[in-house]
Amino acid sequence: MSKMTVEKIRCPKCRQENDFRMWHSVNITMDKEIKEKILNGEVFHFKCAECGYESQVFYPLLYHDMEKKLMIYMLHDDEHQVKEAASFMSGMTDTEEKLDIRKYSEEYTNRIVTTIHELQEKIYISDAGYDDRIIEIMKVIFLAMTSEKTPDQRVDEILFDTDKEKGHSIRFIEKGKCFGSIAVSEKVYNDIKERFGEKIEKNPDRYFIYDFSWARGIMR
Ligand SMILES: [Zn+2]
Repeated sequence: MSKMTVEKIRCPKCRQENDFRMWHSVNITMDKEIKEKILNGEVFHFKCAECGYESQVFYPLLYHDMEKKLMIYMLHDDEHQVKEAASFMSGMTDTEEKLDIRKYSEEYTNRIVTTIHELQEKIYISDAGYDDRIIEIMKVIFLAMTSEKTPDQRVDEILFDTDKEKGHSIRFIEKGKCFGSIAVSEKVYNDIKERFGEKIEKNPDRYFIYDFSWARGIMR
Protein backbone atom coordinates (compact mmCIF):
# COMPACT_ATOMS: atom_id res chain seq x y z
CA MET A 1 0.00 0.00 0.00
CA SER A 2 1.12 3.51 -0.76
CA LYS A 3 0.83 6.25 1.79
CA MET A 4 -0.05 9.79 0.83
CA THR A 5 -1.10 12.85 2.81
CA VAL A 6 -2.20 16.30 1.72
CA GLU A 7 -0.03 18.98 3.30
CA LYS A 8 -0.28 22.75 3.30
CA ILE A 9 2.59 24.46 1.57
CA ARG A 10 3.03 28.20 1.59
CA CYS A 11 4.10 29.67 -1.72
CA PRO A 12 7.53 31.27 -1.26
CA LYS A 13 6.60 34.00 -3.72
CA CYS A 14 3.08 35.17 -2.81
CA ARG A 15 2.64 33.48 0.61
CA GLN A 16 -0.58 31.76 -0.48
CA GLU A 17 -1.26 28.39 1.16
CA ASN A 18 -1.57 25.48 -1.29
CA ASP A 19 -2.54 21.85 -0.90
CA PHE A 20 0.34 19.60 -1.77
CA ARG A 21 0.26 15.81 -2.05
CA MET A 22 3.14 14.09 -0.32
CA TRP A 23 3.83 10.44 -1.04
CA HIS A 24 5.52 9.11 2.07
CA SER A 25 5.76 5.62 0.73
CA VAL A 26 4.94 4.26 -2.69
CA ASN A 27 4.36 0.68 -3.65
CA ILE A 28 4.84 0.84 -7.36
CA THR A 29 3.80 -2.76 -7.82
CA MET A 30 0.33 -1.76 -6.64
CA ASP A 31 0.36 1.85 -7.86
CA LYS A 32 2.17 1.59 -11.15
CA GLU A 33 1.36 5.10 -12.32
CA ILE A 34 3.25 6.63 -9.38
CA LYS A 35 6.53 5.30 -10.70
CA GLU A 36 6.20 7.41 -13.85
CA LYS A 37 5.37 10.44 -11.71
CA ILE A 38 8.54 9.92 -9.69
CA LEU A 39 10.62 9.58 -12.83
CA ASN A 40 9.20 12.71 -14.46
CA GLY A 41 9.33 14.63 -11.19
CA GLU A 42 5.58 15.21 -10.91
CA VAL A 43 5.32 14.00 -7.30
CA PHE A 44 7.86 16.65 -6.25
CA HIS A 45 6.49 19.44 -8.38
CA PHE A 46 4.83 22.40 -6.71
CA LYS A 47 2.80 24.97 -8.59
CA CYS A 48 1.09 27.79 -6.75
CA ALA A 49 -2.60 28.02 -7.63
CA GLU A 50 -2.52 31.75 -6.94
CA CYS A 51 0.54 33.12 -8.74
CA GLY A 52 1.77 30.15 -10.78
CA TYR A 53 5.15 29.96 -9.05
CA GLU A 54 6.78 26.57 -9.63
CA SER A 55 9.43 24.73 -7.69
CA GLN A 56 10.61 21.31 -6.63
CA VAL A 57 9.70 20.08 -3.16
CA PHE A 58 11.98 17.57 -1.52
CA TYR A 59 10.47 15.31 1.13
CA PRO A 60 11.32 11.82 2.43
CA LEU A 61 9.88 9.02 0.34
CA LEU A 62 10.12 5.26 0.50
CA TYR A 63 10.05 3.56 -2.89
CA HIS A 64 9.05 -0.07 -2.94
CA ASP A 65 9.06 -2.42 -5.93
CA MET A 66 7.76 -5.80 -4.81
CA GLU A 67 8.50 -7.54 -8.10
CA LYS A 68 12.12 -6.46 -8.24
CA LYS A 69 12.43 -6.72 -4.45
CA LEU A 70 13.86 -3.24 -4.43
CA MET A 71 13.46 -0.68 -1.71
CA ILE A 72 14.88 2.83 -1.97
CA TYR A 73 14.57 5.29 0.87
CA MET A 74 15.06 8.90 -0.12
CA LEU A 75 15.63 11.22 2.78
CA HIS A 76 17.40 14.35 3.92
CA ASP A 77 21.16 14.14 4.13
CA ASP A 78 21.06 13.89 7.90
CA GLU A 79 23.06 11.36 9.86
CA HIS A 80 20.32 10.61 12.35
CA GLN A 81 17.66 10.08 9.68
CA VAL A 82 19.97 7.92 7.60
CA LYS A 83 20.80 5.72 10.59
CA GLU A 84 17.14 5.34 11.45
CA ALA A 85 16.21 4.45 7.88
CA ALA A 86 19.06 1.96 7.66
CA SER A 87 17.98 0.13 10.79
CA PHE A 88 14.41 0.16 9.52
CA MET A 89 15.52 -1.39 6.26
CA SER A 90 17.59 -4.04 7.92
CA GLY A 91 14.56 -4.96 10.00
CA MET A 92 15.97 -3.94 13.34
CA THR A 93 12.93 -2.08 14.60
CA ASP A 94 9.57 -3.66 15.07
CA THR A 95 6.34 -1.86 14.54
CA GLU A 96 3.86 -3.91 12.59
CA GLU A 97 4.63 -2.32 9.25
CA LYS A 98 8.34 -2.75 9.77
CA LEU A 99 8.05 -6.40 10.74
CA ASP A 100 6.61 -7.04 7.35
CA ILE A 101 9.79 -5.78 5.78
CA ARG A 102 12.05 -7.71 8.12
CA LYS A 103 10.66 -10.86 6.59
CA TYR A 104 12.05 -9.82 3.24
CA SER A 105 15.05 -7.72 4.23
CA GLU A 106 17.59 -10.40 3.43
CA GLU A 107 16.49 -11.03 -0.11
CA TYR A 108 15.84 -7.37 -0.74
CA THR A 109 18.00 -4.77 -2.41
CA ASN A 110 17.92 -1.86 0.02
CA ARG A 111 19.20 1.57 -0.89
CA ILE A 112 19.31 4.97 0.77
CA VAL A 113 19.62 8.13 -1.34
CA THR A 114 19.50 11.81 -0.45
CA THR A 115 18.51 13.52 -3.69
CA ILE A 116 15.66 13.19 -6.19
CA HIS A 117 18.18 12.66 -9.00
CA GLU A 118 19.71 9.74 -7.12
CA LEU A 119 16.31 8.17 -6.54
CA GLN A 120 15.40 8.45 -10.22
CA GLU A 121 18.80 7.16 -11.22
CA LYS A 122 18.54 4.06 -9.01
CA ILE A 123 15.19 3.28 -10.63
CA TYR A 124 16.61 3.70 -14.14
CA ILE A 125 19.57 1.48 -13.30
CA SER A 126 17.31 -1.21 -11.89
CA ASP A 127 15.02 -1.01 -14.94
CA ALA A 128 18.05 -1.45 -17.18
CA GLY A 129 18.85 -4.64 -15.31
CA TYR A 130 22.16 -3.37 -13.95
CA ASP A 131 23.71 -3.55 -10.53
CA ASP A 132 23.98 0.05 -9.29
CA ARG A 133 27.23 -0.74 -7.48
CA ILE A 134 28.91 -1.61 -10.77
CA ILE A 135 27.51 1.55 -12.33
CA GLU A 136 28.96 3.65 -9.49
CA ILE A 137 32.40 2.13 -10.09
CA MET A 138 31.96 2.80 -13.80
CA LYS A 139 31.35 6.47 -12.99
CA VAL A 140 34.66 6.70 -11.16
CA ILE A 141 36.47 5.16 -14.14
CA PHE A 142 34.64 7.33 -16.69
CA LEU A 143 35.31 10.48 -14.67
CA ALA A 144 39.03 9.70 -14.67
CA MET A 145 38.87 9.29 -18.46
CA THR A 146 37.06 12.62 -18.87
CA SER A 147 39.36 14.48 -16.49
CA GLU A 148 42.35 13.29 -18.46
CA LYS A 149 40.94 14.81 -21.64
CA THR A 150 39.56 18.01 -20.10
CA PRO A 151 41.28 18.58 -16.75
CA ASP A 152 39.79 22.06 -16.22
CA GLN A 153 36.19 21.02 -16.72
CA ARG A 154 34.07 21.28 -13.57
CA VAL A 155 31.78 18.31 -12.85
CA ASP A 156 28.88 18.78 -10.44
CA GLU A 157 27.02 15.55 -11.02
CA ILE A 158 27.52 12.25 -12.80
CA LEU A 159 24.32 10.43 -13.67
CA PHE A 160 23.27 7.20 -15.33
CA ASP A 161 20.76 7.87 -18.07
CA THR A 162 18.60 5.85 -20.38
CA ASP A 163 17.65 7.00 -23.82
CA LYS A 164 15.26 4.92 -25.93
CA GLU A 165 17.34 5.44 -29.08
CA LYS A 166 20.86 5.98 -27.82
CA GLY A 167 20.75 3.40 -25.03
CA HIS A 168 22.39 3.73 -21.62
CA SER A 169 25.06 6.24 -20.81
CA ILE A 170 26.88 8.02 -18.02
CA ARG A 171 26.32 11.76 -18.26
CA PHE A 172 28.46 14.55 -16.87
CA ILE A 173 26.66 17.59 -15.54
CA GLU A 174 27.84 21.09 -14.76
CA LYS A 175 25.37 23.59 -13.28
CA GLY A 176 22.43 21.41 -14.30
CA LYS A 177 23.61 21.06 -17.91
CA CYS A 178 25.04 17.94 -19.50
CA PHE A 179 28.36 18.65 -21.22
CA GLY A 180 29.36 15.12 -22.14
CA SER A 181 28.49 11.46 -21.91
CA ILE A 182 30.01 8.03 -22.32
CA ALA A 183 27.96 5.02 -23.44
CA VAL A 184 27.58 2.11 -21.03
CA SER A 185 28.81 -0.95 -22.90
CA GLU A 186 28.21 -4.52 -21.86
CA LYS A 187 31.92 -5.18 -22.18
CA VAL A 188 32.98 -2.48 -19.71
CA TYR A 189 30.15 -3.48 -17.39
CA ASN A 190 31.20 -7.11 -17.38
CA ASP A 191 34.88 -6.23 -16.99
CA ILE A 192 34.13 -4.21 -13.87
CA LYS A 193 31.91 -6.98 -12.56
CA GLU A 194 34.66 -9.49 -13.01
CA ARG A 195 37.32 -7.31 -11.51
CA PHE A 196 35.41 -5.92 -8.53
CA GLY A 197 32.57 -8.39 -8.01
CA GLU A 198 34.09 -10.13 -5.03
CA LYS A 199 35.24 -6.89 -3.43
CA ILE A 200 31.77 -5.43 -3.85
CA GLU A 201 30.17 -8.34 -2.02
CA LYS A 202 32.73 -8.08 0.77
CA ASN A 203 32.19 -4.36 1.28
CA PRO A 204 28.51 -3.74 1.89
CA ASP A 205 27.67 -0.24 3.07
CA ARG A 206 26.05 -0.36 6.49
CA TYR A 207 23.74 2.50 5.57
CA PHE A 208 22.85 1.12 2.13
CA ILE A 209 24.44 4.15 0.48
CA TYR A 210 26.06 3.07 -2.75
CA ASP A 211 27.27 6.25 -4.36
CA PHE A 212 30.36 7.74 -5.94
CA SER A 213 32.34 7.92 -2.69
CA TRP A 214 31.50 4.32 -1.86
CA ALA A 215 32.78 3.31 -5.31
CA ARG A 216 35.97 5.31 -4.84
CA GLY A 217 36.54 3.49 -1.57
CA ILE A 218 36.18 0.13 -3.29
CA MET A 219 38.70 1.04 -5.95
CA ARG A 220 41.35 2.26 -3.54
ZN1 LIG B 1 2.16 31.92 -5.19
